[in-house]
Formats: sequence, C-alpha cells, structure tokens
Amino acid sequence: MATERSYYEILGVERNADDAAIKRAFRKLAQQWHPDVSSEPGAAERFKEINEAYQVLSDPKRRQIYDMVGRSGLGDMGGAGSPFGEGFPGFGDLFDAFFSGMGGAAGGARRGRRPAGSDLRYDLRISFDEAVRGIEREIEFDALDRCGTCAGSGAAPGSTSAPCSACGGRGEIRAVRQTMLGQMVNVTECSRCHGEGRVADAPCQTCRGDGRAQKRKKLRVTIPAGIDEGHQIRLSGEGEAGPRGGPPGNLYVAVHVTPHATLRREGTEIYHDLQLSIAQAALGTRARIPTIEGEEEMEIRAGTQPGTEIRLRGRGVPHLRRPGTRGDLHVIVHVNVPTKLSRRQRQLLEELAAESGEAVLPAGSIIDRMKDALG
Ligand SMILES: [Zn+2]
Ligand SMILES: [Zn+2]
Repeated sequence: MATERSYYEILGVERNADDAAIKRAFRKLAQQWHPDVSSEPGAAERFKEINEAYQVLSDPKRRQIYDMVGRSGLGDMGGAGSPFGEGFPGFGDLFDAFFSGMGGAAGGARRGRRPAGSDLRYDLRISFDEAVRGIEREIEFDALDRCGTCAGSGAAPGSTSAPCSACGGRGEIRAVRQTMLGQMVNVTECSRCHGEGRVADAPCQTCRGDGRAQKRKKLRVTIPAGIDEGHQIRLSGEGEAGPRGGPPGNLYVAVHVTPHATLRREGTEIYHDLQLSIAQAALGTRARIPTIEGEEEMEIRAGTQPGTEIRLRGRGVPHLRRPGTRGDLHVIVHVNVPTKLSRRQRQLLEELAAESGEAVLPAGSIIDRMKDALG
C-alpha cells in the first residue's frame, strides 16, 4: 500500500470536525457510494473505506487512539466492531440505524411504530364576501375516530397483551442473505403484530381490534380573510384516527368561493366594469360602485375615456400573508355606443354632429324609414 489517505480525508472533513459534521459527511458519501445505489466500478471498495473511516471517527475512544497513533494503534479494531455485524448493511438498514441513532422519535427499533391515519379532505363553499372578510364555520362529517370502548388500543377492556410470538416481540422480521459484497440483512415489519411487538389476547368487540370506529365529527374552522378559490386549510390531527392508537391524519378543508355578481377577483385585486353612456362619459356623472364595504357613489369626471382605470387603493382583498394590507379596487370604464335611438335622440345627435362639422349618415336605413312611415 502506498501513502494511505487519513480517515479525515476519506470523509472529507477537518481534523477538528464534530460528530454532527462527521455524520453528515458519512451520510452524503454513503448515499453516493453504497453498492446498493452506485453502479460505478470500485463503489464497494470505496464504501468499505468510507464505512471504516466512519466507524472509527464516530467512536470517541477509537478516534482518540487514531488521532494519537494512527491506524496501527487500532490494530484489529480498524474497521471491525461495526454495529451492523459482519460485512456491511443494506442501504435501507443503514439509514434506519442512522435515524434511530440521531435521537429521533423512531427510538431505536421499529417496535411500537404505529401506522398513521389517513388524511381527509372536506370541500367547503363560501361566498365572495366571506372569503374577503374571513369567517368561522362549523363543519360536520363522518370519519374513523378513536374507538370509545378500547380508547383506541384495539384490545378489549381488561385484556392483557403478550409479546408477539411471530417476531419474538421485536416487531420486525430479519432475513439475512449472503451476497458477493458480504452479508445483507433485510428487515421487514412483522405482519402478525403490525410491528408493535405485542398482541392483545382479546381484541376489542366494538372495533374488532382496529381501535377505530366511524363517528360524526363536528369542528369549527376559521377561514382567514383573503382566502381564495382552491386554497386549503390544514387542521393537524383532525383526519382519520390511526389504527390501534396510531397518530391521526390531517384534515384538509378545500375552500371554494362563489363568484360575485359584479366584482371580479384576481388574488388581492378586485375589478369592476363600469358601464357609461356617451353623454355620461362626456359630461361626467355620479356612478354607484359596488365595493367590499357596500355600494358607494363615485364621481366620474367629464371627458372620461373608454378603458380608463380608476384605482381605489387599499379597497381590495386583504393579503393572507401580510395582515393589515389590502389590494386595490380597479374600476374599469366602458363607454357604450347606443344601438337604438328614439327620433328625438337621433335628432340631438345629428345636431351635435352638425355643431362639430362632422359628416354622419342620413337618417336611418331603408327599414328604419319604413318603420317610421308605418309608425
Ligand atoms: Zn375498540
Ligand atoms: Zn410480531
């Protein structure tokens, strides 16, 4: 062997790296080089090296010896003494070992890890105004809830539980197989005790051991001001109960908003199409505008052009994520050209045209003239 790379070099960490940094480096490299994952030539050798470096540097005692006298000081302990036994672990097991070692809720083994309940979805329809102002609503629905008889355990009241005979109380079944890379351990959840390690001697009569029963649930949902069509509100833990006391799923309230008759909404902006006649646009008028706060009168100046946008700042929809701020209300002006005119109206418009020296078509089409003749 030529010059040997140090364990620190192999993991790519500083000599003073702390445990967390070493763990991080190992995880990253293991994900890259584990032979279950990498198809690159030499991956197995590379992983062995990474694993060996990690086994030493993650153990304070061995790391101390290594720092003082190098690899030779470890003697046979070099890469041995792995918590995974002979060879090296399968990819999945490696990371299971990792997470349990990191002090997470997984707590070591698979035992006791109960499956969670399903997430649920509730479709809630609200009005435009309710979406803009926010509202509290009571909702009711049927869902699997904790069984009242057994308090969710699935065991008949007063019954006892015993260690599972199928897995010896471990909650998991280990299958060891030999591969060219060494021994691989495959761990699966025990199907008899569902990974819990214990089995009740008498299942609950009400729920047949499932720990859940169908119930009518009533909840108050707070809809924040500014919510929009398609938004979802998550109510943590209000979904279906987990089997045998497992954690509940979440409830997602999907919000649907009924559109407003005369206001259009885009995010926090509100739009209103204001229809004016030629005379109103030319002479100015007072128009009634629908707003979130109710109808309001607005002065339209003389000479307002079609397509003019009048912006009422802060009169739109509240921002969901920036409380206290609101979008704007945009009033878009449309000028309608009349298509039907009374004789008097026509006369006035003709006078207007003559006053401005504008050429216009003579009075009416043939049909109009016939109508006039009959009228
Ligand atoms: Zn029950
Ligand atoms: Zn079992």
